[in-house]
Amino acid sequence: MSLANGQSYLAIPGPSVVPEAVLRSMHRSSPNIYEGELVEMVPSIISDLRYVARTDHNVALYIANGHGAWEAALANMAGPGDTVLVAATGQFAHSWAEMAETLGIKAEIVEFGTQSTIDPTRISAALRADKAQRIKAVLVTHVDTSTSIKNDIKEARAAIDAADHPALLAVDCIASLCCDVFEMDAWGVDVMVAASQKGLMVPPGLAFVYFNEKAALQQHALERVSSYWNWQQRVSPEGFYQYFCGTAPTLHLYGLRTALDMIKAEGIEAIWSRHKVLAQSIWTAVDCWGSGAGRMRMNVQNPQHRSHAVTALHLGAPDGKKLRRWVEHEAGLTLGIGLGMSTPDDPNGDGFFRFGHMGHVNAQMIMGLLGTVEAGLCALDIPHGSGAVDAAARVMASAS
Ligand SMILES: *Cc1c(COP(=O)(O)O)cnc(C)c1O
Repeated sequence: MSLANGQSYLAIPGPSVVPEAVLRSMHRSSPNIYEGELVEMVPSIISDLRYVARTDHNVALYIANGHGAWEAALANMAGPGDTVLVAATGQFAHSWAEMAETLGIKAEIVEFGTQSTIDPTRISAALRADKAQRIKAVLVTHVDTSTSIKNDIKEARAAIDAADHPALLAVDCIASLCCDVFEMDAWGVDVMVAASQKGLMVPPGLAFVYFNEKAALQQHALERVSSYWNWQQRVSPEGFYQYFCGTAPTLHLYGLRTALDMIKAEGIEAIWSRHKVLAQSIWTAVDCWGSGAGRMRMNVQNPQHRSHAVTALHLGAPDGKKLRRWVEHEAGLTLGIGLGMSTPDDPNGDGFFRFGHMGHVNAQMIMGLLGTVEAGLCALDIPHGSGAVDAAARVMASAS
């Protein structure tokens, strides 16, 4: 017998669950890429991508994953010999910084560890020290998916303004877009990167780089920009092929069109609220499991600093890994691994794991996730406080 047979649930922080309607819209014959429906559809996609990011500015589309969005943004903001300042609150900031270095861009890191948000005074200080203005952009991860820290982007803006520095504010919203509140224009973000496979509910393969006029002007001053990554022709194409610098991602665009229809029908504020309540019910359950002899802990202590899209947890090694294995093999639920969280006594980060709760996720799925984790804790004799599922149910009940 296996209790894992039945519909499996991939509850990792991306790729996320793809709605049936999105899958169905991608399951069709190939469209003409020169004229007709597909060509007419792309402007509406761009307009709705602006809606989800709360911006009136440009959005360039790429056939890529999140790493592609990182490289695209860097290639349009800085060149070899320039510097970017990276505010690091987890693994993803470091990976973006490493990518800059491979492009010949110096990455100066301001390290905030794996449990704290950015400190704007340290960002201002680093910018003030840059008298020659070599720093072309400040890179901030809105939600770092490894730590589940959510940074206050308004603070990053204020830090740059306080230093009176011309650097662009570039934000990674790959995990947070359509999950956590984000306001590109109101918060003064110059460049933003996102991808299709998290809050946007589409399989991996589409990446988005948003940019405003200030960023466009700075790009014009670069000595050269790779023709593939250049965002300019992608936002003002002379022919349809220039949107994607070649063949369009035909079926992905149908999937994205459907996902955006679903997002607009629900409304972005309602989507943010849904993610908030689901996240709060998870946090409440974790607090119960961690009570008494329980060892489960939220990675981020302050609820204000926690993402609504992903939750990083610590249970200690080897229990974290054992629990992940149990829920996957015995119950059909896949959780995220600990990422970039190694410690001297746990070099592989086996004590950490993550819940992804981004995109097409509702109350019954989160109740299933929590109940399954509870079953795993019982099956493995891992000490834990009681009442977690009941407490989560009450959070959902009082919010409905
Ligand atoms: C997922 C993610 C990435 C990387 O995206 P890939 O599609 O795996 O390249 C980058 N940044 C953040 C914050 C992410 O959540």
